[in-house]
Amino acid sequence: MIITLKPNADPKRVKRELVELGLWVDEMFDADQVQFEIGVHSRAVPTETLRAIEGVATVATPKSSHPLLDAQPRTIEVGAHKVGVDAPRTVIAGPCSVESEDSVRRIAGQLAPLGVSFLRGGAFKPRTSPYAFRGHGEQALRWLARAAKEHGLGLITELMSERMRDEVAEFADLIQIGSRNMHNYALLEHAAGAKKPIFLKRGMSATVEEWLASAEYCLMHGAPSVVFCERGIRSFDPNTRNLVDLGAVALVAHVHGQPVIVDPSHGTGRKDLVEPLARAAMAAGAHGVMVETHDRPSEALSDGPQAVSIETIAAIAAYAKDAP
Ligand code: PEP
Ligand code: MN
Repeated sequence: MIITLKPNADPKRVKRELVELGLWVDEMFDADQVQFEIGVHSRAVPTETLRAIEGVATVATPKSSHPLLDAQPRTIEVGAHKVGVDAPRTVIAGPCSVESEDSVRRIAGQLAPLGVSFLRGGAFKPRTSPYAFRGHGEQALRWLARAAKEHGLGLITELMSERMRDEVAEFADLIQIGSRNMHNYALLEHAAGAKKPIFLKRGMSATVEEWLASAEYCLMHGAPSVVFCERGIRSFDPNTRNLVDLGAVALVAHVHGQPVIVDPSHGTGRKDLVEPLARAAMAAGAHGVMVETHDRPSEALSDGPQAVSIETIAAIAAYAKDAP
């Protein structure tokens, strides 16, 4: 961003005001005019505030690489629910994978009274090993949809292949794009064509700019809205499954003003860390959490070590409701 001063301005005073607002200011010398270059790590301050400073002539901002995203409302509607800045915090819970019709109905029945608004569960699972349980496929979509409907919950589930787009879109209120597919632009385009809100998980090694750009793809190709989900990025330390990047959450929530949810389950891979990280995420600005939950965690067919109990999700939902 470049700020140009009026010829009669007092550069020292203007600079002091800018610094007090939290901006990093570099002077650019020119014989005719004084200009300040504002560093990228400066605090986000509305351009109107800068224009209103006495002595400022113009404020030039670089063209955004995601104009559709910038225009997205700060609170979005997903079926009967609202998600984002001016909505109550969103709690999404359910098993990693849909294991049977009975189990998903049982779990949904226990989640609904707790203040959980969306049921999650994978019908098609992206598993690192081809020998691991990969989900019950299309029939699991129907089990999930029935369980959600029966208990008045919204539904979120992952779309892994273009082939299943219409089936997933028929049942899901939010179409999840998994971490491994955030960069799969062909899939993003197809998913967006269903014209349903997209739940965009951050690629495990994606920069925030790449994440925002993927959201722009979705909006450009017909998705009405995008909700971001931070699920941890790869780190060097095997003690946790991933590293939950709360700095990125704060940036997306507070600087970009976008709806962002944190998934502390894949973020940590450990059930004992899910609740503290869920609290930290909401303190950092997350508009809610997505938590893998099972009423019999030790029997979970996938991601058991990170599945929390119904008691734990009850505590997380209570925090989401009451915390400042
Ligand atoms: C999931 O939420 O089911 C999942 C597979 O997560 P991720 O894409 O973040 O690994
Ligand atoms: Mn999982």
